Amino acid sequence: MPGYSAKVGNVELVSLTDGEGAGPPTAVFAASTIEQWREDYPELLDANEMIHPRYGSLAIRSAGKLIVVDTGLNGPDGKLLDEMKEKGVDSSAVDLVVLSHLHPDHVGWNLTDGSPTFPNARYIVSRADYEFWTSPAMAESDHVKGQVLPLKDLNILDLVDGEYNVTDELTTFPTPGHTPGHISLVISSGGEKGFVLADVAHSPAQAHYTDWNPGFDNDPDTAQKTRHAVLDRLEEDGSLVSAGHFPAPGFGRFVRTGGRRVWQGV
Ligand SMILES: [Zn+2]
Repeated sequence: MPGYSAKVGNVELVSLTDGEGAGPPTAVFAASTIEQWREDYPELLDANEMIHPRYGSLAIRSAGKLIVVDTGLNGPDGKLLDEMKEKGVDSSAVDLVVLSHLHPDHVGWNLTDGSPTFPNARYIVSRADYEFWTSPAMAESDHVKGQVLPLKDLNILDLVDGEYNVTDELTTFPTPGHTPGHISLVISSGGEKGFVLADVAHSPAQAHYTDWNPGFDNDPDTAQKTRHAVLDRLEEDGSLVSAGHFPAPGFGRFVRTGGRRVWQGV
């Protein structure tokens, strides 16, 4: 199986990358020091000591459905559609697009020139995130106007609550804090477990430094509680994790070694 795909029971995952950001790690994680990064995560720093959060999406084949989770930033070098072609994921065959939350780097390819990029798909988002981002204070954001509200007008957006069964093997799981209605996905198939992390964590460093909040958490205290609870659970149950902002392909497990929780890529 190529490195960009993984299996959880009968469920197939295909890692997709739209692009990546760049920033000083201590600007992203205010509680961290550059010494900690140099000492513990030199592999995550480039020559200028920047980190590069990936804009990752995921295609999932489950129970006869083709599902895309998150649609990237669609910046000047956005390559999600090229990646899909290269990896054999047909955009017109996508049945469902699940949006983990409504930040700009997760909804960028919802529409192309005003038409759905995935013409035969319904789009799914949590009601809590939709209500937050379409409140009067937020609805004027460019990405909400351009990539979210039209889905509602086209009547192809479904708002879901709590734990919603996307398929028999795939269930949404509320992980609030990063945004009010942020969701992850639990995969359960053939006795195996998987988890689509989305923005519960933004860097492998948070496996150990789980308290580190990125500056863009909407509610840092709740995000931190959620992160601890989720990473503890994933360490315990050994789920195969897909982490959209981690280095490609973003598949791995949270494991404990030498008294420290680490991200072990696969
Ligand atoms: Zn994000």
